[in-house]
Amino acid sequence: MSLPFDNTYTKLPARFYARQTPSPVPSPKLLKFNHALAKQLSIPENWPSTPEALAALSGNGIPDGSEPIAQAYAGHQFGHFVPQLGDGRALLLGELKAKNGQRYDIQLKGSGQTAFSRNGDGKSALGPVIREYILSEAMSALGVPSTRALAAVETGETVWRQEGEVPGGVFTRVAASHIRVGTFQYFYARNDVEGLKHLAEYTIDRHYPKAGESEAPYLELLKSVVEAQARLIPHWMSLGFIHGVMNTDNCAVSGETIDYGPCAFMEAFHPNCVFSSIDQNSRYAWGNQGNIALWNLTRFAETLLPLVNDDPAKAAPKAEKELERFPNLFAEQYAERFKTKLALPESAPDTVIKECLQLLAKNEIDFTLFFRRLTELASGGNSSNVESLFEDPDKFVQWRNEWQKHADIEGLLETMKSSNPIRIPRNHRVEQAIQAAYQSDYSPFNRLVVALKKPYSESDDFADLESLPLPHEIVHQTFC
Ligand code: AMP
Ligand code: MG
Ligand code: MG
Repeated sequence: MSLPFDNTYTKLPARFYARQTPSPVPSPKLLKFNHALAKQLSIPENWPSTPEALAALSGNGIPDGSEPIAQAYAGHQFGHFVPQLGDGRALLLGELKAKNGQRYDIQLKGSGQTAFSRNGDGKSALGPVIREYILSEAMSALGVPSTRALAAVETGETVWRQEGEVPGGVFTRVAASHIRVGTFQYFYARNDVEGLKHLAEYTIDRHYPKAGESEAPYLELLKSVVEAQARLIPHWMSLGFIHGVMNTDNCAVSGETIDYGPCAFMEAFHPNCVFSSIDQNSRYAWGNQGNIALWNLTRFAETLLPLVNDDPAKAAPKAEKELERFPNLFAEQYAERFKTKLALPESAPDTVIKECLQLLAKNEIDFTLFFRRLTELASGGNSSNVESLFEDPDKFVQWRNEWQKHADIEGLLETMKSSNPIRIPRNHRVEQAIQAAYQSDYSPFNRLVVALKKPYSESDDFADLESLPLPHEIVHQTFC
């Protein structure tokens, strides 16, 4: 039984990628398969139980029709430009057309070395596979544009990581594409204007076909990508999500969230909150993500200048005009997300949001739990359940009175409920799922995935997943 792979990226010039066969693994076990997603991709229902599927999802065989490649890209990592990164541990198997008519990449992560591996082993530990599975599916269920998880495989071999010898894994990722800001930078850094043109045409065709109809298609592409990021980042922030590694190679031009490394959902609220062990200067803190998105977009805009005009000096003001729209677009989206969380009509003053977040920061209140309890209060619950989160409830009561003056609880309660999740993948739960899997107990992983499918719905069965970590369970840092 073969899947109808397309391989449109391989039709681009050979310098865009390197052909690569995945590395075989000793005894693969399919830990998890996303049947609902497979259905959307028109993958036959019995495919995952075939030997071909296990081989394909573990890297033990190349499925019929697939032409596996590692994609070339560059990127700014923590502000420093690296002219060649590329898929060092990932392989694009090909593309599948979904029922909605959209084309999706099917990519293996952890399938062995490639031409771009540099010093790494090209493999993945099982921990990051489980992390990405849980986090990306949770984000999608929360309504955020995101890459998806199709499968998690345990390979039966061990890999060496900081923590020692750990079981290996292969993750299968589904993405609208894997074209990154860093992919454009790869060609820009080489003065490869022809390559840039091919890439821009391909991107327009795949993601922003309307831009192709414009008189200035490359500026229109920039505009579309600016708008997509201005929607995405406030969405993250409204859920307390911190990406952790917003390098330009982890910024997808499609507008999807990509690369779930040391990301985290914030618990005690603070705008400067950082979890990533590798983000030592807090470059990618919760409250800095909008600034970084603009920084990344500026790098993207630079790469398009040679396409906009032969004379980059003439192109620059036009690109700048598109970039200048970002702060307002971002602020609008941010206000809209938070007003929805607070059942505030558009006309309500932004100060209600600002004072709310100041209060949360000052009192180190759990972000998700606060909005969850406030939603319960709006639903007719008792104010004392929110008050009890605060050491000094008077300050909260003061804010609450002001909030109630502006909120349209009757009219906006349903949207409030659908933007304040009851369950998020709490860091300690993700960590527990990983540690249990390392002991061959996959039930916490399975349970978490099920519980996070409907994050806005009440469920007594999963009430424990709402709770804060016990002091010894608190995760202070995340690793990739
Ligand atoms: P990632 O975390 O996958 O975004 O990785 C950032 C860069 O490091 C990419 O160029 C990867 O290809 C490379 N990389 C990360 N981990 C490995 C690994 N285990 N083996 C080879 N390359 C890696
Ligand atoms: Mg990456
Ligand atoms: Mg990563």
